[in-house]
Amino acid sequence: MTIPATIEIQEASRRTWDVVIVGAGPAGTMAARELARHGRAVLLIDRASFPRWKVCGCCLNAHALAALKAVGLGSLMMHRGAVPLTGIHLAAAGYVAEVPLGGGVSLSREVFDAALVEAALSAGAAFLPQTVASLERQLGISEVRIVDLQQGTSRARVAARVVLAADGLGGKLAARADGNAMATVPGARIGAGVTAAGGPAFYVRGRIFMICGRGGYLGLVRLEDDRLNLAAALDPPWVRLCGGPGRAAEELLAEAGWPTVPNLAELPWRGTPALTRQVQRHAGDRLFLIGDAAGYIEPFTGEGMAWALAAGRAVAPLAAQAVQHWHPQLARQWEAVYRRLLGSRQQICRIVAAALRSPWLMRTVVRLLALAPALATPMTHYLGERKGKGIITNLTQ
Ligand SMILES: Cc1cc2nc3c(=O)[nH]c(=O)nc-3n(C[C@H](O)[C@H](O)[C@H](O)COP(=O)(O)OP(=O)(O)OC[C@H]3O[C@@H](n4cnc5c(N)ncnc54)[C@H](O)[C@@H]3O)c2cc1C
Repeated sequence: MTIPATIEIQEASRRTWDVVIVGAGPAGTMAARELARHGRAVLLIDRASFPRWKVCGCCLNAHALAALKAVGLGSLMMHRGAVPLTGIHLAAAGYVAEVPLGGGVSLSREVFDAALVEAALSAGAAFLPQTVASLERQLGISEVRIVDLQQGTSRARVAARVVLAADGLGGKLAARADGNAMATVPGARIGAGVTAAGGPAFYVRGRIFMICGRGGYLGLVRLEDDRLNLAAALDPPWVRLCGGPGRAAEELLAEAGWPTVPNLAELPWRGTPALTRQVQRHAGDRLFLIGDAAGYIEPFTGEGMAWALAAGRAVAPLAAQAVQHWHPQLARQWEAVYRRLLGSRQQICRIVAAALRSPWLMRTVVRLLALAPALATPMTHYLGERKGKGIITNLTQ
């Protein structure tokens, strides 16, 4: 069932909000819930209506689950029927490796993101779906930032002491208002995804099927309702050569010798912008960037949601301070916290993404894993829960 708006846009424009959050994905909803449950007046805005579909592998690793547990949402996944994941079936260059995996789950983005929106609303956040937001340029010193809203033909302006840009991979909020330069890496892959009803029984519940091949990689996983989720990172010229993402996925399945999904090329595939995003700054005047909006690397290690949840949680204490009193030092603090929280994890992901571009390296790795799956232990350990980084402080003010 669609989650309704909790406020009209004209009504929203009649008050000053502590925090306006643009984007109700994992980053925005986590921050909205954290701030609302600590008494801040939060307005959460998204251009989509929820539940909404999104191109994604739909796998949450142990870090993501730990982030949810840390804020009292530990039972959310199992209540929504998430499927525990026990291993990855990895194919490359004629070899197949079985890599054991502990601590992850699969859950559709429709269900996961809607559950997070509901959690934010239960904590007291106000919600404006189907509303496109843009940030006004800040002219001089002001106590607030102004966000322009458009909902169908209605327009309004809302004032916020702090704005969180959680507008995802293609988000332009910070770039348009603050000239915060965004860049993609030349030659970056694009994302593509679709969900299929049924599909071959070969793709069993609880396992990730991953193919690394010519032109990109493809992941398949069963969702809570047994639909088969397909998500891929593909080289754009190769997609054009194949005649679209569905045909490219068929090529990858054929390369691995795995069963194809009926009518794969005819399914309604959706794409994403380039799968890299580098931002010049992670904060601006009364503005913090979180989630994919703050930077993104190819999704092979399946961590984007864990990063988004971690950033959404970590930004809350700084945003709460900024509500009371904005100081440019808070922007510098967010740069430092962000680097400490995600810098090394994103660097590892960058190295893995680069390694995937080498067919020779990929073939060697999969061949070694096929012979000795225990060699994957450092990677599965890395993707699993690590304890005690402790850089997230409590929201006490
Ligand atoms: C092919 C692929 C596979 C992936 N697989 C995985 C995986 O298995 N596991 C994993 O953890 N991660 C995976 N990811 C990454 C993951 O999908 C993202 O990292 C995650 O969704 C980021 O969350 P977010 O909250 O930052 O942004 P999003 O979830 O993208 O949410 C941003 C929201 O902002 C809204 N929005 C944008 N602009 C505006 C505007 N102007 N006004 C109002 N609303 C706006 C959008 O509608 C959207 O709802 C994958 C990504 C891709 C592309």
